Amino acid sequence: MNTYDHEQATPGRATGAPGATPAHRLGDSTLAVRAGLPEPVKNEPTLPGPVFAAHFHLPGDVEGPYTYGRDTNPTWTLLERAVGELEAPGQEVDTVVFASGMAAISAVLLSQAHTGDTVVLPDDGYQALPLLRDQLEAYGIHVRTAPTAGEAQLAALDGARLLWIETPSNPGLDVCDVRCLVDAAHAGGTLVAVDNTLATPLGQRPLELGADFSVASGTKGLTGHGDLLLGYVVCRDRQLAARVRQWRKIVGAIPGPMEAWLAHRSLSTLRLRVERQWANALSVAEALAGRPDVSGLRYPGLPADPAHTTATRQMRGYGSVVSFTLPDRAHAERFMTALHLVEDATSFGGVRSTAERRGRWGGDAVPEGFIRFSAGAEDAEDLVADVLRALDRAGHHH
Ligand code: PLP
Repeated sequence: MNTYDHEQATPGRATGAPGATPAHRLGDSTLAVRAGLPEPVKNEPTLPGPVFAAHFHLPGDVEGPYTYGRDTNPTWTLLERAVGELEAPGQEVDTVVFASGMAAISAVLLSQAHTGDTVVLPDDGYQALPLLRDQLEAYGIHVRTAPTAGEAQLAALDGARLLWIETPSNPGLDVCDVRCLVDAAHAGGTLVAVDNTLATPLGQRPLELGADFSVASGTKGLTGHGDLLLGYVVCRDRQLAARVRQWRKIVGAIPGPMEAWLAHRSLSTLRLRVERQWANALSVAEALAGRPDVSGLRYPGLPADPAHTTATRQMRGYGSVVSFTLPDRAHAERFMTALHLVEDATSFGGVRSTAERRGRWGGDAVPEGFIRFSAGAEDAEDLVADVLRALDRAGHHH
């Protein structure tokens, strides 16, 4: 048997994990280390290496799963099965991987919405969403926006084709009740997509909360090493998935086999990584909570956080990102310079802590002193000590 043979009619469509029936669902650590692995074959590796192929042998009629490298690739197939198993254990879902998170987001919005349709976006989501909004409007698609907090998007749903949710939102870390929004959207015939980048599938499972699409950047916590870009879309409905897959084919926004393989390899440590990173984020947030120089502290895992109740109901972990505000831009810049164990870089979810003064990009409605902090997998004592020392230095600059 060929290592890549499996019974799926469509590459990327898969039924949960082996043995992961709801009756005895596997734990997250087990799911993560086994996600997407093919059936063992004597003398073959556990996770077959990347398949570098622009085309596949194809004598005669066009048949079989692998024909041309823009349409399908065996390395994607295994990764797609893995992501599907993590996003929706035990459910039959379709997963489509993309070259980046934005490729995945654009694929859903541009393949599902047509001229004259209405789409509802968050007004406090990832900073490239406004660029996408311009593109949607250029195609004659109406766009309404509303904040994430307080399910404010409910008021904008009427007659919409698609509701786009980002929870927790980046970088403000507001949370909305997905099930409540899904119920209202579905009652009016509106599809729902959730950006699950920040939580990762181990932190939140949008399809289990009723969403039609779970979409994410795999560049962040999913793969966690800051060495690749990736995106994915998971959905239950075959027809919706077929349009997303068709979009990938016509736009060609495909991941390279090397990136897909590295991503799959990284998934085996997902549970270990998020466990440490979420714990470190909470430690940092708790340390920041006692500081007079810190305002606007947000972390859904803090009991006093406005998002805590909703997050606790629908999330399985609160994520690795903490946000807070220092008195002004110069103070924030001094803080960033004084950090030793935290890299000044954008992105989040990596095993090495990163932070940035978010206002430097100009795309988010945040104060000049706003810091987006992503906790890595360092020892908590080292990380907290570095942050507190940098805060002290930033405050004593005279
Ligand atoms: N969604 C969220 C919430 C993000 O933070 C990002 C990137 O920062 C993206 C999507 C886009 O992902 P990518 O950079 O992989 O295109």
